[in-house]
Amino acid sequence: MPYSEIIDISISLNPETTVYPGNPKIEIEELKSETSASTISKITFGSHTGTHLDAPKHVFENGSGIGVYPLNVFVGTCKVVDCTHESVSVSRETLESMDIQKGDRILLKTKNSGRLRDPFFNDFIFLSPEGASYLASKDVALVGIDYFSIKQKGSTDNRPHTALLEKNIAIIEGVDLQHVEAGEYMLSALPLKFDELDGAPMRAVLMR
Ligand SMILES: [Zn+2]
Repeated sequence: MPYSEIIDISISLNPETTVYPGNPKIEIEELKSETSASTISKITFGSHTGTHLDAPKHVFENGSGIGVYPLNVFVGTCKVVDCTHESVSVSRETLESMDIQKGDRILLKTKNSGRLRDPFFNDFIFLSPEGASYLASKDVALVGIDYFSIKQKGSTDNRPHTALLEKNIAIIEGVDLQHVEAGEYMLSALPLKFDELDGAPMRAVLMR
């Protein structure tokens, strides 16, 4: 079935792309081959750059790399849920008020969307630890959020990562939902095939 609309929810990758503090900036060096006129580029970037997947290895010693996920986690129906009324974090109460079922792919739209190109800011809306535990208890397949971390910056409560990743629930960070209304879509969000790594950038789109 052809889709009438494909919405790009990925962040553009270039040396100016905002990265989480302490993560490497993107570096691109254009190279010219001496034996041909071809242009190739050498790219340096962190595994949590732009729109990207977090794997269990990101927070668990000896945790699995991104290869642990079957591809059907990343492609399929998806619910974009409106959390734009939240001013600190996405609460358990907000999530409980929504129709969230086992196996769902959930993208959390917050006030962060639209600010992804701004310089990094500390007071981004994050997933509350209680909200993460709730989503884990529902056995969803995937949770995405519209900032570079799903966890509050500086917090020692890492449940937004651990509650989800201990159940191999995929986390996508840095989805840009600025121009996306809440509702049901088809999601395609495939990470680059760095199977052993703790995370990898992806091109994510919504279709309907
Ligand atoms: Zn990450």
